[in-house]
Amino acid sequence: MILLDGKIASQSVRDSLKQDVANLVNQGKRAPHLAAILVGNNGASETYVASKVKNCSEIGFQSSLIRFEENIHESVLLDKIAELNNDPSIDGILVQLPLPKQINEQKVIEAIIAEKDVDGFHPVNAGKLMQGLPSFIPATPYGIMLMLEYYKISTKGKHAVVIGRSNIVGRPMSILLSSNSAYGNCTVTICHSHTHNLKEICLQADIIVAALGRPEFVKADMVKEGAIVIDVGITRVEDATAKKGFRIKGDVAFDEVAPKASYITPVPGGVGLMTIAGLLKNTLQAYLQNQ
Ligand code: NAP
Repeated sequence: MILLDGKIASQSVRDSLKQDVANLVNQGKRAPHLAAILVGNNGASETYVASKVKNCSEIGFQSSLIRFEENIHESVLLDKIAELNNDPSIDGILVQLPLPKQINEQKVIEAIIAEKDVDGFHPVNAGKLMQGLPSFIPATPYGIMLMLEYYKISTKGKHAVVIGRSNIVGRPMSILLSSNSAYGNCTVTICHSHTHNLKEICLQADIIVAALGRPEFVKADMVKEGAIVIDVGITRVEDATAKKGFRIKGDVAFDEVAPKASYITPVPGGVGLMTIAGLLKNTLQAYLQNQ
């Protein structure tokens, strides 16, 4: 079993981005600038945004963190997005999800202009991805593709089973794995909560991407010997013995699945770090297109 180490693979992406930024600055140009918006103080969202901002500064990107109270009116958020859309010094905009109930997430996603939509959630970018056109790919599926590329994992002709069909992970992942590209060309089955015989389907998989948000859902008896297992899940599970009072669990029962897998991602330390790498790459791309 080979561990698909997000620390190592994401470091390689960040090293390369750092070099790109240094080259731009040496040419007298400004650095790419990411604006991150955080509404409220959800613990997990705080952690994700802090990590994104920290990663920006480590590779030489500029970043702005814009915070709003939990109870803001939707229009305040939309006005801020409009301002950032029109600000030529901002290359990428992300709004950390989930948002409080009074705010319509889809409206917010569509308010960010496609050219600055570095999360790749805007319907224009989703449509382009569908048609195989250059676009901002949602950061998590993009990060997984970067991971496959880093470890040179051959995907051609393999049967990939993606569990989960969300717009931010499962669905774009299924498109990327089935696309006619270097780390695509899989035959893809996409599963969801209405799928019958999920275990039997998973047992046919050469590659499993688990993105359903159910801790340790994928057990050893669902995995074929030698399968490649990508665990996207991140769930905080209460644990009084843990320092913070919770532990992060993936969607795969790592200890029992790992001995059967040829490659497997850990949680934490796997896909989460690659997601940030994907976001940073999208931000550089937005900068280059905006110049
Ligand atoms: P989501 O929007 O809740 O979607 C979950 C998907 O899983 C849905 O399509 C759902 O089916 C399906 N599902 C739920 N229970 C199932 C079951 N028992 N059997 C089969 N399918 C089932 O979640 P998401 O945003 O895609 O996120 C999924 C997980 O990834 C979460 O743990 C999230 O925290 C994590 N995540 C991690 C990263 C990262 O950077 N590592 C990034 C994003 C998300 P239906 O469509 O039928 O409801």
